[in-house]
Amino acid sequence: MSKYVYSFGGGKADGNESMKNLLGGKGANLAEMAGHAALRLPVPPGFTITTEVCTYYYEHDKSYPPKLKADVDKALVTVEKLMGKKFGDPKRPLLVSVRSGARRSMPGMMDTVLNVGLNDVTIEGLIADTNNPRFAYDAYRRLIMMYSDVVMEKAAGIEPKDGKGIRKILDERLEAVKKARGYKSDTDLTTDELKQLVVDFKRTVKDVLGTPFPEEPQDQLWGGIGAVFMSWNGKRAVEYRRIEKIPDDWGTAVTVQSMVFGNMGDDSATGVAFTRNPGNGDEHFYGEYLVNAQGEDVVAGIRDVAPINENSKNAQSAHLPTLEATMPAIYKQLYDIQGRLEKHYKDMQDIEFTIEKNKLFMLQCRVGKRNGTAAVKMAVDMHKSKLIDAHTAIKRVAPNQLVELLLPMLDPKAESATKAIAKGLPAGPGGAKGRAVFTSEDAVKWAEKGQKVVLVREETSPEDVDGMHKSQAILTSKGGMTSHAALVARGWGKCCIVGCSDIEIGSDRKSFRTKSGAFVREGDWITLNGTRGLVYLGNMPLVDADPSKNETFREFMKLVDQNRTLGVRTNADSPKDTKKAIEFGAEGIGLFRTEHMFYGEGSDKPLFLLRKMIMSKTLTERKAALAELAPYVKADIKATMEALEGRPITIRLLDPPLHEFVPHAQDKLEALGRELNVDMAELKKRAEGLSENNPMLGHRGVRLGITYPEITEMQVRAILEAAGELIKDGKKASPEIMVPVTCAVSELVEQKVIVDRVYGEVCAKLGLKEIPYMYGTMIEIPRAALTANRMAEVAEFFSYGTNDLTQMGFGFSRDDIGTFLPDYLEKKVLKDDPFQTIDQEAMGELIKIGVERGRATRPKLKIGICGEHGGDADSVKFCHRVGMDYVSCSPFRVPISRLAAAQAQIETPRGAKPAAKKAAKKPAAKPAAKKPAAKKAAKKAPAKKAKGKKPAAKKAKSKK
Ligand code: ADP
Ligand code: MG
Ligand code: MG
Repeated sequence: MSKYVYSFGGGKADGNESMKNLLGGKGANLAEMAGHAALRLPVPPGFTITTEVCTYYYEHDKSYPPKLKADVDKALVTVEKLMGKKFGDPKRPLLVSVRSGARRSMPGMMDTVLNVGLNDVTIEGLIADTNNPRFAYDAYRRLIMMYSDVVMEKAAGIEPKDGKGIRKILDERLEAVKKARGYKSDTDLTTDELKQLVVDFKRTVKDVLGTPFPEEPQDQLWGGIGAVFMSWNGKRAVEYRRIEKIPDDWGTAVTVQSMVFGNMGDDSATGVAFTRNPGNGDEHFYGEYLVNAQGEDVVAGIRDVAPINENSKNAQSAHLPTLEATMPAIYKQLYDIQGRLEKHYKDMQDIEFTIEKNKLFMLQCRVGKRNGTAAVKMAVDMHKSKLIDAHTAIKRVAPNQLVELLLPMLDPKAESATKAIAKGLPAGPGGAKGRAVFTSEDAVKWAEKGQKVVLVREETSPEDVDGMHKSQAILTSKGGMTSHAALVARGWGKCCIVGCSDIEIGSDRKSFRTKSGAFVREGDWITLNGTRGLVYLGNMPLVDADPSKNETFREFMKLVDQNRTLGVRTNADSPKDTKKAIEFGAEGIGLFRTEHMFYGEGSDKPLFLLRKMIMSKTLTERKAALAELAPYVKADIKATMEALEGRPITIRLLDPPLHEFVPHAQDKLEALGRELNVDMAELKKRAEGLSENNPMLGHRGVRLGITYPEITEMQVRAILEAAGELIKDGKKASPEIMVPVTCAVSELVEQKVIVDRVYGEVCAKLGLKEIPYMYGTMIEIPRAALTANRMAEVAEFFSYGTNDLTQMGFGFSRDDIGTFLPDYLEKKVLKDDPFQTIDQEAMGELIKIGVERGRATRPKLKIGICGEHGGDADSVKFCHRVGMDYVSCSPFRVPISRLAAAQAQIETPRGAKPAAKKAAKKPAAKPAAKKPAAKKAAKKAPAKKAKGKKPAAKKAKSKK
C-alpha cells in the first residue's frame, strides 16, 4: 500500500530533498529543512500529500484514495500535538496553510490558501489566545479573500463576470474603506473596520458566487486540498507547462502546514531572500521583507518592500529600514541559516521566511532562479571557493542562458545622448525595445502580427505569462525585485524593469504618463535598459555585447573549453563576421557560402557579372563572364581566409538555383541585354528557360557544376589561388572545398577531376609545391547519407546540411512550413520544430548511418554539421554523441555551442583530448586531413581520379 502522506516537524521528517517527484519541490525541501540532521531548521510542522494522489485524483474522476482521509487525520493529530493546538478547536484553534508544489517550481502558477481553520467560532479562540483581535480579523478577511478566489471560483471553474474575479471585487471593497478613511496602507485598518470587512466579504462572496463561505474547518481543509489538485489543470498552469515543456502528468503535491503569522504587529514580518544576488550573481545575501504582513504581500507588490540589509537596497527601497537594523538578532539567525542552506545544497537558495513575534520560521527553500549573468558568476565563484567542482559549474549554466551575456545592449552613445523618461528596478538585463502594449492579450495579438512589443503593466500575474513570453521586454510600475514579473523574466532571461513608480498607467489602460512629463500611447515605441532600469522614449539603437571584456565570462568559458572534445566553428561569409566569431571562440569556419557576395553592400558589380554569366548562351560567352567574375570571388574568399589566420574554412561551391539571381527590374535587364548584345525578347526567353517548378529540388548545387564545369573551375581556382597567395605571403590558409547537394559518389568523382587539374595549374602558376586543402561534401540528401560509405571514398570530410536534410527527410518545404507547422506543434503532432532542433529519431538516424558508413570507408573522415542546428544545444549534444568532430553555427551562438559541447562531454564522455586544449595552445589550426584518410582515398577512388594530382591532404601533412 502506498504511503500518501509524509509528515515533517519537531526535528523530524518522513521525507527528504531527494523525493521531489513524490513530494514536489516545496514538500521535499520542507522535509529536508525540518528533518535533516545538518539543518533541523525552525519549520512549522505539517505534512505533504503526494503527487501520486494528484494522479489518482485525475484518474479516478476527481476522487481520493479511500484511506487518504484517515492518513490526513492522523498526520493532523501529529501537528496538533507539536503545536499544542487543535484544528477547529474553539479555544486554541490550529490554523493551517494549504500549499501546492510540483516537482519543478512553477512560480505563482498554483495557489496557496492561508489561515485555513478560521470561522466565527474559532476566531474567538484565536483572539483569546493571541490577545490580538486586529490580527485575528486581518487573518480572517485574508482567508475569505484567498479561499473564495482559489477554491470557490478558480477551482470550481467559475468564469468571472466581465472578467472581474471575486478577489478583485473584494480588493476593491478593501480599497474603498482605505480611501474613505484616508489610509495609505492596509496596516492602518482598525479592528472594527476589519471585522466589518469580514461580514461584508462573506455577504459579497455569497452574492457573487452563489454559495456561502464554508465555516466548517474540515470543509475548508478539503476544499483547499481539492483546489490545489484542480489548479494543476488550471489555464495558467497548463500554459506555463507548455512554455516550459513540463509534462502534464507529473502532478502536484499538497502541503498542509501549521500557520505562523507575520501579521501580528511590528515585531512580525514576512520576507523572501536569496543566498546570493540573483540579478548579477554577487556573493551577498540578498532579500526583501515587509513588517506586519502575510504571505504573498511581498511578491504582490502592494506595499513598498524593505531591504533586509544594505546590499539589498535599491533606488526604490533605500530609505526604508533594513531587517538587519530593526531586528538584528533575527537577522543574524537568518543570515546563519542561509549560509548553512547554501553549503548544504551547494547552490544558491531562494528562501521564504516569516517572523512571528520575534521568532523566525523557515517556510520554503529551493534552488533560486537566476539570469544568465548571475548563473555564470555563481558557477565561477562557487567553483573557485571549492563549493562545487568544474563539471558541476559547467552544468549550472543552461546554454541558452549565455544568450543574455551576448544580448544586445542599448547603444551607449545613443543612451548618453538621451534622457530617460523613467527609472525602475533592473530585474532583467540587456536592452530591448518595442511598441508599448498594456494587456497580455494585446501583447500576444500584436506579436502574432509580427510587431515587437513591450508589455507595460502595474504588476503582472500568472495570467499574463503568455503575453510576457511574447514581449521583447516587460515594464511594471509596481512590485520589487522578487515580484512575479521579476521572477518570470529572470527565468527566461528577458529584459525587464519592475517597480517603476515613475510611470502612471492611464485609466484607459492604453497609455502611461511619467513623472518627467512624458506621455506614451499604445503602439508608441519605447526602449528599455534592463541592466540599469531605465526607460526611454522611442526606438533606440541596440549594439552587440562584448563578452570578451567580461572577465567572469572568460573564466567560465575557459572551464568549458577544458572540458569539451567537440570542436565549434562558425558559419560566416565576411571578415567582419569571422572576427566576431573568433572573439566568441570559433575555431574555424564550417560554412562559407560563396553566394553571399552577390547580396548586400558592394555586390553590384559581382552580381552583374554573375548575371552576365548566367544569361550567357555559349560556352565562350560564359567563360568570358566567369573570367571577369573570378577576381571578385578570389578577393572575397581571400579576405575571410586571412581573417581566420590559418584556421580551417569550409567553402561551399555555388549552391542556389541560378534562376534566383535573374534580375526582375527592367533597367537591370536592359543593362544586361546591352552587355550581352541581345534584345529583350531573347533575354526574357533565356530567363524563362532557367525558371523551375521546384527550384529547391532543381538545378542547383553540384548539378550546376556537372552541367557547367567551368563554374566549378572558376571557384576552385579562386579558392586555391587565394590560399596559395596567402601562403606565399608567409601566412596560413586551410581551405576545405565543399561540394553541395550531392546524392552520388560519381558526382564527387566528376568534380574532383576539375579540382585536381586546377590544383596543378595553380601550384605551377604560383610556383608552389603544394597548397594544403581538403575535398569534401555536404551530406544533405538522404541518399548521400545512406551511401556515405561510397561518398567517403572521395570525400575527405562530410558536413551535414541539416536544414536541407530535414527538408528532404520530412518532405517539408522549409519556405512553406508557416502554413502547417504551427498546427503540428499546437496539436502536438510533432513535439518540436525539426528545423530548430534535430529530429533525433529519423534525421538523427540518417546522420548516424552516414557517420558509421563514412568512417567505415575512411576511419579519420572529418565530420561536422553546418545547418542551423549547430547552434541548438540539444542538437549539439547529439552531434557530440554520434562522434562528429565539430559543429558550426552563427557567430553569436558559438559560446552556446561550446557550452553545450562541454555539457555533452560531461554527460557522455568520449575519448578524444579536449578540443580546446589544442585550440588554446595553437590557435592557428593545422591542415586537417590525416595521412591514412588521404591514402585510402587515393587507393579507393576510381582510376580517373588516381591519374590526377596526388591528394592535397597528404601534402598538407608532410608540410608540418
Ligand atoms: P508559492 O508557491 O506561490 O510560493 P507558497 O505555498 O510558498 O506559494 O505560499 C506563498 C506564501 O504564503 C509563502 O511565501 C509564505 O509567505 C506564506 N505561507 C505559506 N504557508 C505558510 C504558513 N504555514 N505560515 C505562514 N505563512 C505561510
Ligand atoms: Mg502563489
Ligand atoms: Mg513560495
